[in-house]
Amino acid sequence: MTTSGTGKRVLLAKPRGYCAGVDRAVQTVEEALKLYGVPIYVRKQIVHNKHVVQTLEAKGAIFVEENEEVPEGATVIFSAHGVAPEVHEQAKQRSLKAIDATCPLVTKVHQEAKRFAAEDYDILLIGHEGHEEVIGTSGEAPEHIQLVDGPEDVDRITVRDPNKVVWLSQTTLSVDETMETVARLKKRLPMLESPPSDDICYATSNRQYVVKEIAAECDVVIVVGSRNSSNSVRLVEVALDAGARAGHLVDFADEIDDAWLAEARTVGLTSGASVPEDLVQEVLTHLAQRGFTDVEEVVTANERLTFSLPQELRRDMKAAEAARA
Ligand code: SF4
Repeated sequence: MTTSGTGKRVLLAKPRGYCAGVDRAVQTVEEALKLYGVPIYVRKQIVHNKHVVQTLEAKGAIFVEENEEVPEGATVIFSAHGVAPEVHEQAKQRSLKAIDATCPLVTKVHQEAKRFAAEDYDILLIGHEGHEEVIGTSGEAPEHIQLVDGPEDVDRITVRDPNKVVWLSQTTLSVDETMETVARLKKRLPMLESPPSDDICYATSNRQYVVKEIAAECDVVIVVGSRNSSNSVRLVEVALDAGARAGHLVDFADEIDDAWLAEARTVGLTSGASVPEDLVQEVLTHLAQRGFTDVEEVVTANERLTFSLPQELRRDMKAAEAARA
């Protein structure tokens, strides 16, 4: 590994930043603005990142908390985190044109929840109370789903039939903590079934894996991401658990306190799945100005997954194209 004359270096994690679901959700708003014109309403933050939301607002997107805030007949986009079926229903009642930007990997968990509920399972959903994704998934089968918010929550679970229980999870959790929760659940419920495929998504696991690889070498790990971004917050925790001496979450480079760097020789840098690369580059510039000029990218996976835009939007884009031809 190289170090500069100052002996200060940056270990830059890859994969980092935008995942396929976030990329698709942001593009959905951008394309909708181009196609339908302003304003476009977006229910909840399209992705959990301050900068992304501010940029889209500047282009004409209006962020609201609930469908009632959207004028009747207007276009509303649902965020990447997914919504409960009742939200689709409310949109219909208000004659809204709804475009669903739910990440397909979140939709997959919704489908699992529906399927196990139809088979009358008790479903233990591991996730964070109040997170939009958990609210959306729980809404698919509220009478069958119980939330398990971490290992400490396991003891209060009660199920109807211990032979017919399955666990599912939020897509953006800590892989290790989730496995600990599952292990505790299995002690109480030996017949507990697992989801048919991983619910924690590829982007979350990949970003955690590379941070674990670099953490022990780092005096401080800086994670670019917003406080309400579950996967970004998890990255700081994972770095600390894996041996980083310190870890901090920042939305922007100017939030970095020089005191964090005062004694540091190696800084780890990564970003959450909702963070545009520009913000990471700004942090690199900020660090270079403080002597951290040697940057080594540590790559543990190359991601190529992409998702196509929501069907309803593609259909309208195609129709507009045909009308122009
Ligand atoms: S973090 Fe995972 S589940 Fe969430 S939007 Fe990205 S790919 Fe989809």
